[in-house]
Amino acid sequence: MTKVKQKNVLGFFKKGVHRVVIATSVAEEGLDITQCNLVIRYLHVTNEIVRLQSRGRARAENSKYFVIAEKGSPTLDKEQKNKRCEEIMNEIVPELQEYLEKPENNWEKEMLEMQKVIKDKEDQMQRERTDNMSDDACEFQCMKCSSLICLSEDIRTIEGRHHIVINIEVNGRLKLKRGKPKFFGPDEPQVGGKIFCMKSDCQNELGTLCTYKDIVFPLIRLKLVRVVNKNGDGNKYKQWKQLTCRIQELSDDKFCSLVEERKMNLLL
Ligand SMILES: [Zn+2]
Repeated sequence: MTKVKQKNVLGFFKKGVHRVVIATSVAEEGLDITQCNLVIRYLHVTNEIVRLQSRGRARAENSKYFVIAEKGSPTLDKEQKNKRCEEIMNEIVPELQEYLEKPENNWEKEMLEMQKVIKDKEDQMQRERTDNMSDDACEFQCMKCSSLICLSEDIRTIEGRHHIVINIEVNGRLKLKRGKPKFFGPDEPQVGGKIFCMKSDCQNELGTLCTYKDIVFPLIRLKLVRVVNKNGDGNKYKQWKQLTCRIQELSDDKFCSLVEERKMNLLL
């Protein structure tokens, strides 16, 4: 559906011309949906935050929120877990607010201590990761904040020149911003958009997005990242061929397994 069509549909809903909107998960957040009195989610549950957001769609007085799921299904389990998380949050938030408002509680100091614990844990994880790396593998880090982006084994090339990240877990460490890709041909990789470091205090640009046969992959730009080898030596490179680690070409078999993996991810 085009943006214009989407806008029209929502406009009709707002005016009451349409009484029902059927949408994908896109309606959970981001879209400006007017208040409604009934939200039904069909076999679709994600986390407690999205639960709150989609439930928030039912903002009219006496509004209702339903999830349709099979008894004993993972969807139902997940929804119940999310419900519990929301209840815990509702219990904790007032206590937390009260705590933060009391001057004798030195929460800033406590937060710094907590951050240090997290940082130590991250460092330890980083060390463990490096220990598990094969000798010719390397790690790609954000140039600005040094946080891990991916390992060389998470990257494949298309036609030997587009370096795409195939490990979908890496997408969680990146902020993806779609943009109009340059169109070369249906089976050609199309490059457009941007990727950024996920850390809120960093947000450094790391590359672009690459659409290849309808799948969108992050594409690392070498000059925007630091490459660290197994010994912990970090370097900046201008050309991929200068790297000591080997990056494989994306095979047809691997591409098919990625398509399957992404389909599963959509279903989960
Ligand atoms: Zn960063």
